[in-house]
Amino acid sequence: MTDFRDEAAQLVRSLRAYVEWQAETGAHGIPRVGKQGGRLGQGLGLGQPAGATAVRQEPEPSPTPPAHVEAPKTPTAPIVQLDRHVRLPQMAQEVAGCTKCGLSATRNKTVFSRGNPEAALMFIGEAPGADEDEQGLPFVGKAGQLLDRMIAAMGLDPERDVYICNIVKCRPPENRRPLPEEMSSCFPFVNEQIDLVAPKVIVAMGNTAVAAMLDTKLGITRLRGQWKLYRGRIPLMPTYHPSYLLRPSPQQLEAKRQAWDDLQAVMKELGLSLPKKA
Ligand code: SF4
Repeated sequence: MTDFRDEAAQLVRSLRAYVEWQAETGAHGIPRVGKQGGRLGQGLGLGQPAGATAVRQEPEPSPTPPAHVEAPKTPTAPIVQLDRHVRLPQMAQEVAGCTKCGLSATRNKTVFSRGNPEAALMFIGEAPGADEDEQGLPFVGKAGQLLDRMIAAMGLDPERDVYICNIVKCRPPENRRPLPEEMSSCFPFVNEQIDLVAPKVIVAMGNTAVAAMLDTKLGITRLRGQWKLYRGRIPLMPTYHPSYLLRPSPQQLEAKRQAWDDLQAVMKELGLSLPKKA
């Protein structure tokens, strides 16, 4: 009974977020059900016991990447599944004591991650801001609240169904962009986070995250909405950073619509459908 009530409450939250997000973007219409004909949460390991390992169903092995994803230039070896529940907390401790770059001198708290390390969907942003630096958690300020609404509009729970982190784990002073040397010092952490979480899909948000993940100089407006492969094996969707979507501009509404298009493509890839309107 409790599970049913929880699911019903989650459905109501998702519907509300979906309607609010539709109102924000001016978008309308229900997208097609994903290729697996998925229902809400299918394929994301929802309802699995906390702390269980290897709870997600892996996709059927495919000899070729999906048609919408670029073929890998250099196929990489399959990863060895490490125990994420041991290694991730260990790594968070290492990050807390890290002095590999100059950002360690000005940070208040390191910002490692939030969400579920079992999640099939991983969101990666640029760097912590002031709120994150204070709380030690990523995406807890205004941009984070918008991200949570977008995730809820996908029919997902931001704490239960996704894993969220940044390219750098310490706040750059005055919220400047992280320097290349700061990103390269910190990148091994996010790389290992990806190996451990082993998401089915990554969403890279904003220029900095996309540049770091794809080693490209192309801007987000050129890349967003196009499937890429991270290290030749994980589908990656570039999209706008929520802080850009919050910035008042003539392009704001269109950017929100585009971001929603990108997230719908992600849902389709994961076999998810939107909650149906009452
Ligand atoms: S940003 Fe990353 S590499 Fe630099 S001090 Fe913080 S944790 Fe270490």
